[in-house]
Amino acid sequence: EATEAVLKQIEEKEDTYNCYVTVDKEGALKRAEEVQKKIDEGTLSGPLAGVPVAIKDNMCTKGLLTTCSSKILGNFIPTFSSQAVINLEEAGAVIIGKTNMDEFAMGSTSETSAYGITKNPWNVENVPGGSSGGSAAAVAAGECFYALGSDTGGSIRQPAGYCGVVGLKPTYGAVSRYGLIAYGSSLDQIGPLCKSVKDCAVITDIISSKDTKDSTSVGLDYKLVDSLVDDVKGLKIGIPKDYLGEGLDSEVKDAILKAADVLKEKGAIVEEFDLSLVDYAIPAYYTIAAAEASSNLERFDGIKYGYRTAEFTDLHNMYKKTRSEGFGAEVKRRIMLGSFVLSSGYYDAYYLKALKVKALIKQEFDKAFSKYDVILGPVAPTTAPKIGSSLSDPIKMYLGDIYTISVNLCGLPGLCLPCGKDSNGLPIGLQLIGDCFKEDVLIRTAYTYE
Ligand code: GLN
Repeated sequence: EATEAVLKQIEEKEDTYNCYVTVDKEGALKRAEEVQKKIDEGTLSGPLAGVPVAIKDNMCTKGLLTTCSSKILGNFIPTFSSQAVINLEEAGAVIIGKTNMDEFAMGSTSETSAYGITKNPWNVENVPGGSSGGSAAAVAAGECFYALGSDTGGSIRQPAGYCGVVGLKPTYGAVSRYGLIAYGSSLDQIGPLCKSVKDCAVITDIISSKDTKDSTSVGLDYKLVDSLVDDVKGLKIGIPKDYLGEGLDSEVKDAILKAADVLKEKGAIVEEFDLSLVDYAIPAYYTIAAAEASSNLERFDGIKYGYRTAEFTDLHNMYKKTRSEGFGAEVKRRIMLGSFVLSSGYYDAYYLKALKVKALIKQEFDKAFSKYDVILGPVAPTTAPKIGSSLSDPIKMYLGDIYTISVNLCGLPGLCLPCGKDSNGLPIGLQLIGDCFKEDVLIRTAYTYE
């Protein structure tokens, strides 16, 4: 029934919102029947059994098209599933389809997809955010019960904020990256987009696991459902002054400060503090992320899988034409930038310098977490921008990531939940940042606020 209800919603709304690259109607109905049988027999139970989920199209799904919203993977059907998807399937999840995203997760609006723009369900003139915009919009529009996204510099939290849903970027290493098509391997992390903090805890408990196929997987046995407690008495919350300054929309600022007041009234201790190094986070992030992307995307060469140009003269001409035709403009920009900062002669000046900045930012966060349990702030400087207003000025778009990227540079967990609407009726996202592997504190704080 749940699968049928979601498919009906997709039938009615998908033409307008375009949340999915692929909807697997037959596969989902068949799977739902199998799961129902197991539930009836008593061989399967649990909170996610039979619940329809949407998967961002950069996670491999066995036998189901996985494009990364790129032309270069337009015909790629994986022979295996990513570990997070396997964990969900073992819990009885029903995969409805694969959600639209910025090409290779590079972007903040989901407009760089090769498969059309996803629209924000709160207002179809606005973007849903990105890069997990299809996942966030699908949850907001009821086109799935919950979704998986990936977050390299904010791609779960920011679209969650723009679409008024809950999103969690877990600590680096909490969820296996096996089968997640890599963008920036030292930054990427899979996490849930869902309707409530409770769902967020349930899903994270299931997708996090020890996985020998990902050497960075840590394998803590999360029991976040135990942290669904309405109590923040004595909890120390810090608000970085640097997160409230220039560039922050005044309605967003008011909503964030009001949310902090709610937590204060419930017994938390709230104060402001300096986190001034975040000013350097954007250049450091875009240097490191582009460097890793340029290396990770080398594999798409038209040889083993994916798109291959129709006509070519020799091997090098085939590589060149395949990649020129297969990748979009933003991806090419990142590959060029990444190759440049890694090239001999510029490596020390850019890439190595960025790594040093990253280490200093991490030290500043470590210092903050010696005083505070949670860092609170906005997820983005504004609510969802209008479609078409961001792409012409990439630097402006990159600046919009200011509040989210440090979390990835430092491997920290970050949660975004709704905290009101602006005067245009668009959702505002509240971001809570915790120390590594302290998702339990984020869940408790978010649950108390919600
Ligand atoms: N907007 C950022 C970027 O384009 C973050 C994307 C992400 O988290 N995948 O790199």
